[in-house]
Amino acid sequence: MKTHLDSSTPVSREFTNVPLVRCAGLARTFGRGSSAVVALHHATCEIEAGQLVALVGPSGSGKSTLLHLLAGLDSPTAGTLEWPALADAPLRPGPVAVVFQAPSLLAPLDVLENVALPLLLAGAERAPANEAALAALRALGLDTIATKLPDELSGGQAQRVAIARALAGSPRLILADEPTGQLDHDTAAAVVDALIAAAERSGAALVIATHDHDIATRFTTRWRVADGRLYTNGPGR
Ligand code: ADP
Ligand code: MG
Repeated sequence: MKTHLDSSTPVSREFTNVPLVRCAGLARTFGRGSSAVVALHHATCEIEAGQLVALVGPSGSGKSTLLHLLAGLDSPTAGTLEWPALADAPLRPGPVAVVFQAPSLLAPLDVLENVALPLLLAGAERAPANEAALAALRALGLDTIATKLPDELSGGQAQRVAIARALAGSPRLILADEPTGQLDHDTAAAVVDALIAAAERSGAALVIATHDHDIATRFTTRWRVADGRLYTNGPGR
């Protein structure tokens, strides 16, 4: 993570306008030779604090590939990728949080333990981790189910718990990869509302990949991916 400000620099307007993530000419090819798949060609984008973006495109167009790169979960095969506003600390758990299509809660742990786990793994003490987990659950109206096991939850509840888990670390950038792909229409809308509200409340940026038109229309900024090409202000905006 590059930054030209050190930790003693006061937070200024200039600092808050520094992008959370910036990429240029970003590409990702899977495989080699005749079996190589170019999943992403030359993508250029910038995401600032508070920005809410729907990343739309059909299945196989490259949405997950781009999100995984922006999250630092994968490395590009070409181009530049940097997180200028984020400190020299691990991206996750920390300033970048990822929400996937499946909630992936751990079955033996209750809701509160699931949400607190990443904080404990990152070295937090149990009491503050539980407190942060409970606050994240409360913000999503889930504190009443804190002692339930994943098996006892509906699909929508489980996905909102996964969102609480992502938010418990107070991220500045939330990357959600088709987080409503397994939910019915009304539940999906409630989950997206919860994500948008959480991002707005904390000033975090949110990028949500979706191929659901109704969800995309809830965002004024829509980026389109087609055949591995990212259009940030072209077709689909
Ligand atoms: P989307 O999320 O829009 O459905 P993806 O980013 O998952 O699309 O995939 C884009 C392209 O890259 C697809 O052709 C997909 O098959 C390919 N791809 C993605 N991940 C891998 C991988 N690990 N190995 C090989 N090909 C991959
Ligand atoms: Mg995908």
